[in-house]
Amino acid sequence: MGGLPTVVRTVEGVRAAVGQHRAAGSTIGLVPTMGALHAGHLSLVQAAGRDNDVVVVSIFVNPLQFGPGEDLQAYPRTLQADLEALAAQDVQLVFHPDVADFTPPDMVTKVHVAGLTGGLEAGTRPTHFDGVTTIVTKLFNAVGPDRAYFGSKDFQQQAVIRRMVRDLGMPLEVVTCPLVREGDGLALSSRNAYLSAAQRQDALALSATLAEVLDAWDGDVDSARGLLQDRLGAAAGVRLDYAEVIDTVSLEPLTGVHTGPAQAVVAAWVGTTRLLDTVALPPAGAGR
Ligand code: AMP
Repeated sequence: MGGLPTVVRTVEGVRAAVGQHRAAGSTIGLVPTMGALHAGHLSLVQAAGRDNDVVVVSIFVNPLQFGPGEDLQAYPRTLQADLEALAAQDVQLVFHPDVADFTPPDMVTKVHVAGLTGGLEAGTRPTHFDGVTTIVTKLFNAVGPDRAYFGSKDFQQQAVIRRMVRDLGMPLEVVTCPLVREGDGLALSSRNAYLSAAQRQDALALSATLAEVLDAWDGDVDSARGLLQDRLGAAAGVRLDYAEVIDTVSLEPLTGVHTGPAQAVVAAWVGTTRLLDTVALPPAGAGR
């Protein structure tokens, strides 16, 4: 293992550093993050390392994706620990843009993906995805990766980014990686740091209910959604935002009996912490 990764804070700096690797013929994988890294993030880094010669990790708490009253100020920032975790994965280059430089107050351009951003997260976070797609586009422009890695925990996010890349012909591949959980099922999230021990117990209702739905899944969307909404609607300490069974590409809520792939997605508050969880529902009848 080498030393800590080089931290570059400007677009010009990251372009120059990546340019040197490109000139040597290396392929580049980008893992965009907001830091406070955990094993979920590191699984993306590992996937990127398998597919590419060089891995660039971006760490940027993106102000544009937080709405008014959300946790932008409180969001955990653990740069030194993040760099150590990345060094252990042999990551050598971290792009950590300066906020004022990367999101100047006079910025008037937004990237908007219509349709896919209209439901689910948008109900509570109406401006969230414009913030995500605008900043992810800037990261892609700065780094110019061959591949970019996203987690399926943020299922709507990866679908939106996939669609943006397709629609705008961005010259890179989007890779979606599986959700990583704690041993007891809790989906890893930087926001888990906000949970008290009791809240953390309450939060297990999300993963437990999704596991139950997966176990019972026979293609009957209405009963799967009913089970999710009933269980999570009644779970102690949990305030449900949404629980849906959706098409994996259009993200439209499904109804009736569905024979193709589907995804169960939930969002809920535990105390003041908003958590997401999701599970893939394979085509009914497919062995699992
Ligand atoms: P964030 O730092 O929360 O913006 O997340 C950065 C990336 O890591 C996103 O693509 C997330 O979907 C992904 N990610 C976060 N938590 C997990 C997890 N538990 N398993 C897999 N990927 C995750």
